[in-house]
Amino acid sequence: LPAFDAERLRADFPILQQEVNGHPLVYLDNAATTQKPEVVIEAIANYYRRDNANVHRGAHALSDRATAAFERARDTVARFINSPTARQVIWVRGTTEAINLVAHSWGRSELGPGDKVLVSYLEHHSDIVPWQLVCAATGAEVVAIPILESGDIDMAALDELLDERVKLVAVNHVSNALGTVNPVKDIAAKAHAVGAKILVDGAQAAAHGMVDVQALDCDFYAISGHKLYGPTGIGALWGRETLLEAMPPFLGGGEMIETVSFAGTTFNTLPFKFEAGTPNIADAIGLAAAIDYLDGIDLSAAAAHERALLAQSLELAKQVEGLRRIGAPNEAVGIFSFVLDGVHPSDLGMLLDQQGIAVRTGHHCTQPLMDYYQVPGTVRASYALYNTAQDVERLFEGIHKAVRLFR
Ligand code: PMP
Repeated sequence: LPAFDAERLRADFPILQQEVNGHPLVYLDNAATTQKPEVVIEAIANYYRRDNANVHRGAHALSDRATAAFERARDTVARFINSPTARQVIWVRGTTEAINLVAHSWGRSELGPGDKVLVSYLEHHSDIVPWQLVCAATGAEVVAIPILESGDIDMAALDELLDERVKLVAVNHVSNALGTVNPVKDIAAKAHAVGAKILVDGAQAAAHGMVDVQALDCDFYAISGHKLYGPTGIGALWGRETLLEAMPPFLGGGEMIETVSFAGTTFNTLPFKFEAGTPNIADAIGLAAAIDYLDGIDLSAAAAHERALLAQSLELAKQVEGLRRIGAPNEAVGIFSFVLDGVHPSDLGMLLDQQGIAVRTGHHCTQPLMDYYQVPGTVRASYALYNTAQDVERLFEGIHKAVRLFR
């Protein structure tokens, strides 16, 4: 493995210092959600201990402090994804809400009969269903972008699908089920060449420090804080400023208005136009603390470390008869998705849990992708910066035990 001190980083994550079912916890479900370093937990607790107040109300010291910290957190996210301005960063609950915001606001005003939304076979349900809903409401059509057996997007097929009826291409930056890193910049250029917009689901990409919305030249980018060593319930939608300015509001309520009267209401400026109601202040601050924590870590070295754990997994997998990796993407993050002949994924998951090893089993909210591979689901070990070679060894001890028990 390359020199990257995962062992030292483990100490920053209190949850990892426990036994589960009598064994030291091996947490390999990081694509579902990552664990939180102590500094994130402290940032949230300290906010509630010292500063808690509603934001943008400005009448007292606590409100001023809460507002300053909340808006500083927005600046931190803007810097992390290289947004030209903080007003293009809209707080949401997570990737799911970000995509629904775009589908409702942009989709309902821009899509009509005969229009197409291209969605890849690699997509999470949260990047499929909102498009189905908005297409059903507007008369537009969702068209699936095929993939190759490797789990890469079929770029030749994409070229054939792209025409002037396509209004939006929706793809993930990194697949949660297979780990595929998609060529988002190329896809953006292809979409723009036919006048389409591109939305990138960045839920799995953000933790790897690969998000640069300007370099990718995308139109919308969605992230979830909890996949980024931050809290649940907070995420961000980034959008191109001209698009966000032109879009109608999503939710109505306080914060998002300029003036309200029964004769008519005017809306607030960006980003507040899209932030109705009291926001999730504490978790926005927690997310900024996570990003500050990641600033102290070489994220490309972390990604290389996680890929090395994947390589170690693939090597050890050769000694397990009937183990089949699902997909073999051209470029991938540290996600190991597989099936084991004669052992149901959920049985394997249960047996691993008894040994203190947490993996995800099932369809990973990617049923069309599972249909493509004709499997009901997979077992997925997804590696994070605190995982070690020993964690991978423990996983394989568990797999060998399952083989002995179930076959
Ligand atoms: N897209 C991808 C690729 C994901 O992995 C996930 C979470 N599993 C989501 C979208 C949805 O994210 P959230 O549940 O945080 O809204």
